[in-house]
Amino acid sequence: MVVGDISTGTELLVIGGGPGGYAAAIRGGQLGLDVTLVEADAYGGTCLNEGCIPSKALIHASGLAHAVEHAESMGIHARADVDFQELVGWKDGVVDRLTGGVETLCEANGVNLIEGRAEFVDGGTARVAHGGEGQGSESVEFEHAVVATGSRPIEIPGFDVDDERILDSGDALSLETLPESLCVVGGGYIGMELSTVFAKLGTDVTVVEALEDVLPGYDDDVTDIVRDRAEELGIEFRFGEAARGWTEADGGARVETETEDGETNTYTAERVLVAVGREPAADTCDLEAVGVEPSEDGHIETDDATRTAAEGVHAVGDVAGEPMLAHAAYREGRVAAEVVAGEPARLDHQATPAAVFTDPEIGTVGLDAEGAEAEGFDPVVGEMPMRSSGRALTLGAETGFVRIVADRETGFVLGARIVGPEASELIAEVGLAIEMGARLGDVVGTIHVHPTLSEAVAEAAANARGTALHTTNR
Ligand code: FAD
Ligand code: NAD
Repeated sequence: MVVGDISTGTELLVIGGGPGGYAAAIRGGQLGLDVTLVEADAYGGTCLNEGCIPSKALIHASGLAHAVEHAESMGIHARADVDFQELVGWKDGVVDRLTGGVETLCEANGVNLIEGRAEFVDGGTARVAHGGEGQGSESVEFEHAVVATGSRPIEIPGFDVDDERILDSGDALSLETLPESLCVVGGGYIGMELSTVFAKLGTDVTVVEALEDVLPGYDDDVTDIVRDRAEELGIEFRFGEAARGWTEADGGARVETETEDGETNTYTAERVLVAVGREPAADTCDLEAVGVEPSEDGHIETDDATRTAAEGVHAVGDVAGEPMLAHAAYREGRVAAEVVAGEPARLDHQATPAAVFTDPEIGTVGLDAEGAEAEGFDPVVGEMPMRSSGRALTLGAETGFVRIVADRETGFVLGARIVGPEASELIAEVGLAIEMGARLGDVVGTIHVHPTLSEAVAEAAANARGTALHTTNR
């Protein structure tokens, strides 16, 4: 210990106060552990400060403005006068409420909070450098540690994010003025969600995507719907082109792209959003000191109890690799604390859902038919198109479908793909069905309120059994 240092001891040290870290800390507190949570930047991590929450606030608000202006078929003729700065201010208010809530919840559960950057010194000690110059540092002796240091945007060569013209997602969510034009590099989760926001607010958006379609990993009939709608919103796609670099042009940027055949193109825009993926932040807390070496792709390997290769050291959330989703981080954080407290908790990602908050939304959970076959099931598939849902029509949102997959013989629900309004909410019912070992008959036998979108889930399940009332059975 350095002379003059403060030294404290804790049963559970949590490094990082995002969804993974604060879930571990709060759950640890609930279980009676003496917990210390160290956060270097802002409680709530990426999710609350520059990820899920601010993006969903802007998605909702831009969707509202756009919907008001495009409701002529309902006899509504209106103009939305959007004050971009006020809109961003409202979003910031939402973020502040939630990040403040994290601190309050941690404190209410007896978690000791330290603001600073933690680094391991050895298998039982970490040093925390307090934020700000001259703020000093302290040593924390721990029995168990949870590494929840999250992830950061991948930077591509030739694109140094300068917060001015070249933005990462955090910058794009905090702009002070609405750009007239935006070039989005990457048509994945962030590229699709944020290009929808800006297109709906009136920005001219071009998406440059290295692959031949948006949202890699999602089925074609799912991405077709989302891409078609994005094009309808005026978003222009340049597929099969990888961004290679940029130069200044007319106060903005000229983005250079290259196809696989070596053909080059340029696109000029006021701003450029680079959204080509995120990488685990496994280099912020000196893992070497505890003998943990990140895998080749940079994440910390863990077992189903969130344990790393080092005794007493756990890792959760984005730093522990895919799925890099906030709800996966919450679960992993919870499991880590329970394992530390001696409970028999284990991770099981078979019913971890995913949602993309595009227009329309996508929700997925469990297996698709192909995946089910690969796992040795004989799958049966049921579908309900949104155009057959009374509720979807009353919302003016008839594009999309619910597709449910089950085991033919037993009827056990195995998964679903949903595209349509509130798909991110609807998918929860199928997740619960999988978790509970429910069969198609259980979903069909559950009386759903009419008229609701959730009826479409039950109708898809009925369709798989040949008993749907509101769509033609196969
Ligand atoms: P993080 O939230 O990244 O938190 C890590 C924390 O650790 C940070 O606060 C950091 O400051 C701190 N830290 C790092 N090193 C140290 C150190 N040495 N000492 C102390 N503190 C340290 N996921 C979804 O499920 N749904 C969505 O809708 C969604 N939308 C997203 C939108 C965007 C634009 C982005 C960028 C991400 C989105 N995500 C979404 C992903 C989600 O944000 C992450 O999966 C989630 O935040 C991971 O949580 P985490 O706790 O692992 O890490
Ligand atoms: P992503 O992996 O979803 O998409 C990145 C895209 O960039 C890919 O389609 C890839 O082909 C493309 N790309 C890579 N290099 C390129 C280049 N040089 N030129 C053109 N295209 C290029 O990554 P993301 O959109 O940055 O999101 C990161 C992560 O954040 C996601 O994987 C997810 O874990 C999380 N996230 C989740 C949500 C949600 O749950 N709704 C929302 C946003 C982000």
